Amino acid sequence: MITIKEYSTPKCIDEAYNLLLEKRNNVLFGGGAFIRMGSKNIFTAIDLSKSELDYIIEEDKLIRIGAMTTFGDIEYSPLLKQHYNDVLSKSVSEIVGIQLRNIVTVGGTVYSRYGFSDFITGLLALDTTVNLYKQGSIPLEEFLKKGSKERDILESISIEKDDRKATFLSMRNSQGDYAILNVAISVLDGKYRIAVGARPKVAVLALESMNYLNGIGKDLSPEDILEAAKIASEELAFGTNTRGSSAYRKQICYVLVKRALKEVVGYED
Ligand SMILES: Cc1cc2nc3c(=O)[nH]c(=O)nc-3n(C[C@H](O)[C@H](O)[C@H](O)COP(=O)(O)OP(=O)(O)OC[C@H]3O[C@@H](n4cnc5c(N)ncnc54)[C@H](O)[C@@H]3O)c2cc1C
Repeated sequence: MITIKEYSTPKCIDEAYNLLLEKRNNVLFGGGAFIRMGSKNIFTAIDLSKSELDYIIEEDKLIRIGAMTTFGDIEYSPLLKQHYNDVLSKSVSEIVGIQLRNIVTVGGTVYSRYGFSDFITGLLALDTTVNLYKQGSIPLEEFLKKGSKERDILESISIEKDDRKATFLSMRNSQGDYAILNVAISVLDGKYRIAVGARPKVAVLALESMNYLNGIGKDLSPEDILEAAKIASEELAFGTNTRGSSAYRKQICYVLVKRALKEVVGYED
């Protein structure tokens, strides 16, 4: 159970940040869905819903998504549908149900670096930057690797607007459950990005597999795809939890990378 002493709805991010620093147990609320599953004594709940962080906008070279954008907004965004084969919509569409997706936020998800996150895996296959109020802009890959000592607010994420072809696949024991493994792959001008998440640790890039493919370029043979899937499944570390063993995850990685590569390259499975 959580207890909250005071409740605040700052009108801008500066106000939210100042409140955050006032007390150790002041807590930011995105959708609040994950906070509510835990147990915490909160002094001030800082509800970001009035801080003007709810947007998906197109800039010259970027698509910028505000921290308070919900997964429901991501799923049905006409702008995102026009880019990356709608991979971001795909990455969130199997998360529990639409009621939850209409609550949970981009900021709460990405800032928390959840290992199980489907959305983070989708983003990692794209050229994504995390924009923090205090620490500035950091490539997502770097942000996921470094722990956060400093308290900060995720203001937005920005994604390079390019002609990347992408896909997202996941394996679940049952609909609505957390993924056993998820994979997102994109390709732009013969350069591949392979992101693997829910290992169960947070998503990473399969760099050796990417190097292998990037040395070949645009015309991948079926054998190249099998080899890249093998490299990815062997280079990454997988763990065991109640949903699956590390050995099972390794096998699933091989299969999902193979299928996702076939999809972005345009081969029938
Ligand atoms: C029952 C349930 C099932 C789920 N299943 C899945 C699943 O299968 N796959 C999946 O990918 N995800 C799943 N999720 C996670 C969900 O998709 C969100 O990632 C999660 O709920 C966090 O989003 P939120 O808006 O609820 O964050 P909150 O609960 O509001 O916040 C989470 C944390 O982030 C902090 N925070 C919030 N906003 C910001 C910000 N802008 N800047 C900095 N810190 C911030 C909060 O202080 C808190 O510490 C599930 C969640 C629930 C509740």
